Formats: sequence, structure tokens, C-alpha cells
Amino acid sequence: MTQEIQPTDNKNLEDQDAEVNLLEINAVEVAAIEDVILISPKDVAKKIREEKRSNTNKEDRTIYIYRAKCLINNKIYIGQSVNPIARWQAHIKSSENSDLPFHLAIKKHGADNFKFDIIDSCNNTDAANELETKFVTKYDSYIQNGKGYNATLGGYNAPKSEAWKKNLSNRWKSLSDEQRQELKRKLSEATKKQIMTKGHPAQGHKWTDEQKERYSKWRSSLDKDSIYTEEVRKKMSESHKGKKIPKEQLEKMAAGIKATWEKKAAIRYATEEIYCHADGCMVAGRAQYKIVNNVRYCNKHGSRLLRNGILEVLPKKPVLVTDETRKKISENRKGKGCGRIPHNKASLTQEQMDMIVNDSRSIMELSRVMGIGRKVICRIRKEYKNKLSA
Ligand SMILES: [Zn+2]
Repeated sequence: MTQEIQPTDNKNLEDQDAEVNLLEINAVEVAAIEDVILISPKDVAKKIREEKRSNTNKEDRTIYIYRAKCLINNKIYIGQSVNPIARWQAHIKSSENSDLPFHLAIKKHGADNFKFDIIDSCNNTDAANELETKFVTKYDSYIQNGKGYNATLGGYNAPKSEAWKKNLSNRWKSLSDEQRQELKRKLSEATKKQIMTKGHPAQGHKWTDEQKERYSKWRSSLDKDSIYTEEVRKKMSESHKGKKIPKEQLEKMAAGIKATWEKKAAIRYATEEIYCHADGCMVAGRAQYKIVNNVRYCNKHGSRLLRNGILEVLPKKPVLVTDETRKKISENRKGKGCGRIPHNKASLTQEQMDMIVNDSRSIMELSRVMGIGRKVICRIRKEYKNKLSA
């Protein structure tokens, strides 16, 4: 992808009215017209590993199209890479010291204020360039139009984008006034809904260092003991007591935490040099590993391979004896000894229990006659005595 800035060419648009109307729809709304199916970073990371493992030629590797959207101003950047996850990390890193508009934006708004998504994939450079151009046009992310950070129209297929633009413009023109009003209303509703469900784009906004300093100064200037008196503390604690978080909210929180973890795991998996070679395992980076036959595995898979000889979990052995038959067998064995000296009173019959308590013979003799452990006899007699005295 070249980074030189090309001149805009708006004259090609036949209908200025349609152009104005289109410009009124911001990037989010354009995305709402025809949104894309996102590819999970986890799947991408797995695929990258697979291709590396099978030594796929560099030219034959899957190329991904990614989209980074600034949540503060909705501006979009479209890029292509064989490892979009590592590429996004590299963008963040280079933003520290770069003059490219996209990098300046990351530096200004903070990487956390960008939503990074992988939106398409293909298997050759030509297709990738075409896709890149398609998405740059779709989101109008060409920097000259003021709504994105792409310095070019993407790939080397720039001419195509004009045709696409015209196509979009024609689509808009083909609508009746009523249809246009209806579409606008729908789009504005979509934006409102987005703000309600996902929060305002400026949410998660980062404080500047100056703001942070001012706030911390103000905090430390407060006399905490005079504010948080015993009474206030008690009230605070009372107000939180017995508060139950609704199940729905809990589930949402859990899903959010899970998603964050999966994202982090995918980044680690796609960028770290060290990783578990077991199929589908996402362990990478700092972890404990086992080397088996010169191949690196995570602790779980390594141990499994050493113990069972295979990476998969061994199938559970089918249960042949049901609980019921086991009970029957034990009932049947009671009092018979079955070649073993009973060391537990649970295996004695009531008859034997009575004999132990009532017979006056010594423990040693009784043990020999009845074939029952001396300790068992001793324990039963003691318990009986205690019961009597109680
Ligand atoms: Zn593993």
C-alpha cells in the first residue's frame, strides 16, 4: 500500500445533490446500510498458526482486510495484512513516532478509543487490493474526504473506486423522496440505538495528563477524614448491602470479560514466538511449557501427551457396573467375609454385632472364632459401653 496522498476528484460525480446527501450520512450510518460479517480474531490467529505450521508459501497465505474505527470521531482506517493482529499492534507502536495521519490519530485519541475489526479475507494480492479499495470507498475513509485516515484509495485499484462511488450515488438517486426520508430516519434511529446499547462514541475517553494532575491535586487537597466520617462510611456501606446485580447484567459483564480475554489471547497467539503446537490450543507467550519429541506444548497438552501418548482427552471408560448392582453385591457379601477379615462394622450383620456385644469371650478369642478384626470388635464394644453409660 502506497502512502502518497492523491488529489480528490469530486467532479466525476454527476449529481451534486446526491453527493451532499451522501456526505450527510456519517461513517457509522454508511456502515449500517450494508454492514460486514466480522471474522473473529481467535479464528484468524489459529489460521495464521496453521499456515505457518504447514509452511505455506508467503504468496499463498490468507490476506485479511481490517478496519480500525475511531470511537470519538467515527473516522475509519482500512488496511490489509497477512497478520492483521500483529499489524494493529505495530500501528500502535509506530504511532509513538510517526507523521502518518492514522498514527497521529492513534497518538491523539489513544489506541483504546479505536475499535479494531477484521472484516474480510482473500488469498491473493489482487483480490486484497480490490477488497481494500472496496472498503475504503464503502466507508469513505479516504483522508481527502475528511472522514477517514486512508492516504490512498487502497491497493492500486484506485480508478475502480470512482465507479463504485457512482454506483452508490446512483443508488441514492434511484430512491424516491419518501424512500430517502425513510432511509434517513432509519439511519438516525440506528445511530440512536447504537448510542443506547453500545454507549456514546466518546465513552471510555482518556484523560489528558494535565486533567489527571488537576484531579489528583484536588483529591489530595481534600481532608478525607472530615468527608468520610463514621456516619458517611456507614451509609455508604448500607446502601451497597443486599444489592443484587440482575442476572442479565451479570451475564453481560461475564460475556464482556470473556470477549476481552479472547481478544488478548488472540493477540498473544498471533504475535508471540513461543506457543503450544497442539491443534486449536491458544496458549502462547508467557506460560509453562513441556517439550515432547522436540515439539513445544503447553503444560496441559504436554502432560497429556506424556501420560496418554495422544493430545486428545482419553474417552471415558463405559460404566459396566451400575450403582444398583454394586449395592446388591455388597448386600450379598455382608457377613460372609468373602476371604477378607472385615475391618469395618458396616460389613457385619446384626447377628454378628449382637454376638460381639453379648459374648463374654476375650477380644482375641472372638476375633479368631468369628474371623473379624480385633480393632473392629474393640471399637464396637467401646461404642456399646459408651451408649449404655450415656
Ligand atoms: Zn496447549
